Amino acid sequence: MNKPIDELKNRLQEVDDLEKAGAVLNWDQAVFMPTGGAVGRGRQTATLERLAHEKFTDPVVGELLDAIDPVADAEASLLKVTRRDYDRAVKVPSEFVARQVAHNSAKYQVWEQSRRANNFAAVQSYLEKTLELSREYVDFFPGYEHPADPLIDISDEGMTAATVRRLFGELRKALVPLVAQIAEREPSDDSCLRENFPKARQLAFGEMIIRKYGYDFDRGRQDKTAHPFMIRFGSGDCRITTRVQENYLAEALFSTLHEAGHAMYEQGVSSEYEGTPLGQGATSGIHESQSRLWENQVGRSFGFWKHYYPKLQKEYPSQLGGVGLDTFYRAINKVQPSLIRTDADEVTYNLHVMIRFELELAMLEGSLSVGDLPGAWRDRYKETLGVTVPDDRDGVLQDVHWYYSNIGGMFQCYTLGNIMAAQIYAAAETNNPTLSDQIEQGEFSRLHTWLKENIYQHGRTISAERLLQQCCGGPISIEPLMSYLNNKFGPLYNI
Ligand code: ZN
Repeated sequence: MNKPIDELKNRLQEVDDLEKAGAVLNWDQAVFMPTGGAVGRGRQTATLERLAHEKFTDPVVGELLDAIDPVADAEASLLKVTRRDYDRAVKVPSEFVARQVAHNSAKYQVWEQSRRANNFAAVQSYLEKTLELSREYVDFFPGYEHPADPLIDISDEGMTAATVRRLFGELRKALVPLVAQIAEREPSDDSCLRENFPKARQLAFGEMIIRKYGYDFDRGRQDKTAHPFMIRFGSGDCRITTRVQENYLAEALFSTLHEAGHAMYEQGVSSEYEGTPLGQGATSGIHESQSRLWENQVGRSFGFWKHYYPKLQKEYPSQLGGVGLDTFYRAINKVQPSLIRTDADEVTYNLHVMIRFELELAMLEGSLSVGDLPGAWRDRYKETLGVTVPDDRDGVLQDVHWYYSNIGGMFQCYTLGNIMAAQIYAAAETNNPTLSDQIEQGEFSRLHTWLKENIYQHGRTISAERLLQQCCGGPISIEPLMSYLNNKFGPLYNI
């Protein structure tokens, strides 16, 4: 007979296999599937998700968790994290999971059409149903302080609406004056990024860089999709996607650097945790910190481009041959309040996130109806960023999140990620005094190794809070982000 710990691991491996099979179907849907496959695909993924949920919530898993006496640290972590996931999962009926997955799949198709047609009314009833389902989910966890808490807990364990609100409040107070000061200055010119740049070279250039970063193409690949993402099928297969615009150089390049940051994290999780709930990144916020760090702290730095810009000029001599490094650096770091979150600069980006976060809290609290959402969106953009939203396509319909999953529980991770990226990068620099010299030479092994040792390898064995404590020596704080932004954009805008 199997030892109970082996029995538990076998069961968890089967759950993981079902989930990863579902992930392959999702990847295929985004990369290759013809639109005609949507209905069948929605059913297939719902079936797999339901089976995985049923298998995981089998009472035998609970009995095994009760029976096992851990003999090593790794076992103790496995039991702790699995227990947490199990206790949460058993509160949610399989019937609800299947209903929710089927709804999300149908809604996603409708959203794509309504976004194309700039027609919020077409997706409104689906979004109303989503709000209902999100509240129904929340009610499986009575005792919360704010209805967003159980949703936030799925992706950013340890955070609540109240802690995020407090942190965002501090950050907003620090950001708004910086945005205002920059707005008084001469805007940067980014026209050098808007020439014609043949797509194949853009892709090859981005892939050359992420290879140097340390992304392992023997355990990954890059494809093109409408919305870039990273997906893990196992430590031996962590894929990324990007999108390329012939007339905008920054799009593919920075999305590739971003997604590679997510993927290197997943590739770096210790293989010891494969097939268990430990075998993935810690939280969504920590994950985002790793993608933003490689995209921004490294990929938008002056030192990085001192090395790589001459190489980029060689790829595009007629477009960039006459454009100096300073001009290019200013272009890729242009600050300007805008409509689209994913295109936003490092200074205004977090304001986009705060708008969404407050709107979803209001919907969950019941103080904002879905019907009033487009108007509330426009008001917040005017008030916070001074931007007039011309239509819903570039307003309330722009982000996939509410149209693919719950209302609540996800957007906070982007700003938590930015905050922690600055904190973690500052710690990496303190611990590796020659880091910036290495980056100026186009070398990243020291940074990659440090991140592997301090973040990646641990997977979910360590909480976000403890990870930060261990590698940065303190809890989450906005100070490193604000000093990074002030030190970078102050000189760029003569502030
Ligand atoms: Zn990301």
